[in-house]
Amino acid sequence: MLAFECVEEIEVSLGRKVTSAEAFWLNYSANKSDYFLYCHNLIFLIIFYSLLPLPYVILQLIIRSSKNTHKFKIQPNITYSFTHMFDCYTKVVKLFLLTVGPLQLISFPIIQFVEIRTSLPLPSKREMFLQIVVYFIVEDYANYWLHRLLHTTWAYEKIHRVHHEYSAPMSFAASYAHWAEVIILGFASFLGPLLVPCHMITMWLWMIVRHAEAIETHSGYDLPWSPTRLIPFYGGAEYHDYHHYVGEKAQSNFASVFTYCDYIYGTDKGYRYAKKHRKGVRTKTVE
Ligand SMILES: [Zn+2]
Ligand SMILES: [Zn+2]
Repeated sequence: MLAFECVEEIEVSLGRKVTSAEAFWLNYSANKSDYFLYCHNLIFLIIFYSLLPLPYVILQLIIRSSKNTHKFKIQPNITYSFTHMFDCYTKVVKLFLLTVGPLQLISFPIIQFVEIRTSLPLPSKREMFLQIVVYFIVEDYANYWLHRLLHTTWAYEKIHRVHHEYSAPMSFAASYAHWAEVIILGFASFLGPLLVPCHMITMWLWMIVRHAEAIETHSGYDLPWSPTRLIPFYGGAEYHDYHHYVGEKAQSNFASVFTYCDYIYGTDKGYRYAKKHRKGVRTKTVE
């Protein structure tokens, strides 16, 4: 009721009527603390991380049971059993709860400091879109350098080796990593909203879209109808798959989203050469 009682006051300060989306937000958020709203990030993360990989999982199980290969599978003869994929999923969810959970607690004062707002008016679709584009660019650049650092001998052995256990990635392995890597690369994802503060809803959306992108990139499928192919300089699944395929010695394809950092800094030469000359892939299945 509290929310509806203050609608009039808000309409006076906005100089217009609140939209139905704003009324819904007001009704939902009015009695919740900003900290609780911020913690929705973890809830959404687990929900979307449970749902978005499913089409790829089903596709992989169908192919595996029919003993066929799929023409869009990047490493077509490497498939994973349901047990294996479920095991990976539970490990990642545990990682979210034990790493992202405490991170939400620690990072909240920063969220307050940079003024990630929960108030009205809600951001327009255009504002959300432009902010998320900026976040992708910032994240991609920061992630490129942090990922390169993770490929130095010490960091690879102690931290990054875990993520590279999958030489043929699959959707649930997108966030399969050492807890320290979640914190290190999480900083890159956090950097955009710190530099260009947004509304809490934009923050939720950014986290969801960023993880959806990581899931696609690690799916192991290069689907020709994926709308992400329309994004300029977008790396995609095949691009990152090569990084996993090469593994420890990879000095190529460090960027998480786009291709231009690797192009500018000359770390896509191995990939371009391999693309031109690589023939065939390894043949194995994983139980
Ligand atoms: Zn790597
Ligand atoms: Zn990866």
